[in-house]
Amino acid sequence: MISLEKLVRRNVWNMKPYSSARNEFHGEASVFLDANENPWNTAYNRYPDPLQIQLKERISKLKGVETSSIFLGNGSDEAIDLIFRAFCEPGMDCAIMIDPSYGMYEVCANLNNVECKKVLLNSNFDLDADKIIELDDNWTKVVFLCSPNNPTGNSLNRNEICKILDRFQGLVVIDEAYIDFSSQPSFLSELDKYPNLIVLQTLSKAWGAAAIRLGMAFASPEIIGVFNKIKYPYNVSKPSQEAALAVLENEKNMREELRVILYERARLEKALVEPPYMFKVYPSDANFLLVEVGNANNAYNYLVKQGIVVRNRNNVTMCRGCLRITVGTPEENKMILNALKSIPL
Ligand code: PMP
Repeated sequence: MISLEKLVRRNVWNMKPYSSARNEFHGEASVFLDANENPWNTAYNRYPDPLQIQLKERISKLKGVETSSIFLGNGSDEAIDLIFRAFCEPGMDCAIMIDPSYGMYEVCANLNNVECKKVLLNSNFDLDADKIIELDDNWTKVVFLCSPNNPTGNSLNRNEICKILDRFQGLVVIDEAYIDFSSQPSFLSELDKYPNLIVLQTLSKAWGAAAIRLGMAFASPEIIGVFNKIKYPYNVSKPSQEAALAVLENEKNMREELRVILYERARLEKALVEPPYMFKVYPSDANFLLVEVGNANNAYNYLVKQGIVVRNRNNVTMCRGCLRITVGTPEENKMILNALKSIPL
């Protein structure tokens, strides 16, 4: 059993949270003179619900997770930053992250003056739980796992993740930004079993709503309580809450787009390993492919000249020579396949 008190930053544990006007009053009223707003109704004159109850109820139904186990933020990036600010003492604590993986874990660690211990993935980009568990000590508060992993595209081995959840003394974050594209089940079903688990998801990928900026963290009500204690009072705007509700109403549309993306992913992968390309394509459980093209810098610049932007991952650990290519519309995928036929090597 984890002791949350031992994991939370001392100042955060001891502080009294800010209580906003809309936090303090919950009943029915017709005149609101409590929050120094402009009284004339413009649809935007009132502060939004600080705890986003209606949206959380919708997400709760969709995901089968209690609202008390849900935190919503300005993208999952907000949740990543909050994890450092809630649990890691600057200049003292450490965080473990896999390498290569999503860059924001390290950026947020640096921003918070928290040491990163990077654990190299093995040659097939998979996880060795023992390598992580052996780094566990009193100062290591959190490990970040990303599955499916960005930029490699693969899901991490579930048994290895469970081994870490069972044996690591701190918090285990599983970033599931790409879970909707995956053949593997989410770890949301394991929340009750593991009190040290935090699952991150987002509306930015499969749900097609990156502009809304809506990220989700799922964890025990105690961990979510810590996030709520330190978040900005009105961290998700009213337009974002409304737009998110509208997007979630249209699950059918998401499923249809997802079907096309998965079909196109397979088509792109198949084409790119065959002549005339003969590239190495890493197996993907996400909506992108990591493709070893040879001279990635040349290929990247050549594609830009054709008006096509991909992500050059040449300088990323274990990704030399690689481009990360997002699966686009069928027309866009045709365009990149055409452009890649004639890259100078
Ligand atoms: N996690 C991973 C693995 C990502 O790739 C990204 C976006 N590139 C994020 C989190 C951030 O997502 P959001 O838009 O929800 O902040």
